[in-house]
Amino acid sequence: MAMEVTGFMNRSNYIGRLAPSPTGAQHVGNARTFLVAWLHARSRGGTLLLRVEDLDTPRTKEWAGDQAIEDLEWLGLDWDEVADLQSLRESRYCEILGELKSQEVVYPCSCTRSEVEASSSAPHESQLDGAVYAGTCASRSASDAVDLDARGVRYAWRFRIPESTPAWSDELHGQQWLDARKLLGDFVVARSYGPTAYQLAVVADDHDQSITHVVRGDDLIYSTYRQHAIYQALGWPSPRMLHVPLVIGPDGKRLAKRHGDSRLSLMREKGHGPESLLGELAHSLGLLKSIRPVTAEELLSIVGSRDDWLRTIPRVPWVYNPQ
Ligand code: GLU
Repeated sequence: MAMEVTGFMNRSNYIGRLAPSPTGAQHVGNARTFLVAWLHARSRGGTLLLRVEDLDTPRTKEWAGDQAIEDLEWLGLDWDEVADLQSLRESRYCEILGELKSQEVVYPCSCTRSEVEASSSAPHESQLDGAVYAGTCASRSASDAVDLDARGVRYAWRFRIPESTPAWSDELHGQQWLDARKLLGDFVVARSYGPTAYQLAVVADDHDQSITHVVRGDDLIYSTYRQHAIYQALGWPSPRMLHVPLVIGPDGKRLAKRHGDSRLSLMREKGHGPESLLGELAHSLGLLKSIRPVTAEELLSIVGSRDDWLRTIPRVPWVYNPQ
């Protein structure tokens, strides 16, 4: 993947990021989130980082990082700096994991995925964001990993979610609170095999890259509770968060291949410019009264002329019908 590690330039007091996961092609839903992230940063004179999140090794595709960059360029969304690839930062993640171990806020969990599912304290239908871990291994201390290693047992490092959950405010959805201990439970931050898990890597990156604002899809809204717990343990301030409602198909389900092809790369291959898609996205965000071709720059000037543009973004998923 052609990726350059750069030194950080003079930055504004807004530092945001565009963080595609190269696990497949970027589609209309990703474009909508990137557009909001770009408009939010640029309208405040912010700095934007491009961070290709190539952490999820088995699902990461060689071609997908470069393709995501071409998609962003095609959309007319730019960035100021390129952050390190996550795959190059494992030693930093290990260092942070070491700190969490020394605080005993993580423990080695050797439960298999099916054991976690089977012992989950919440029935499947009431799960908000995956199985709630029953705490089977929670009485272990970090040093118990030595014995597991000696016996060749594979395990994950699970983070102890604190007893009480702090409330937080989403830039779009406002005040948020749920009982994270009861409804989300202890979560995985690393594995004795394979790469660091998303929850730890993203906190490490956002902290080390001085990110002040995170704009991402609202499929990650529950992850914010987990990430806040990590920030708190490390004594780091957490960035402000804005979660963009998801894009769904006409059947009300999350946009997927069976709804039709909504890959940005396909639109490019067909020789389309981004203007008609941007027009649809802008209309869906309440930035245009009717759908018409528009450029990202033009949308920036529309946003620039209104300080309440976030208020017009519908808080519910957007229904998209790929043709
Ligand atoms: N890479 C993630 C995605 O493409 C975003 C992670 C984040 O913003 O925290 O959905």
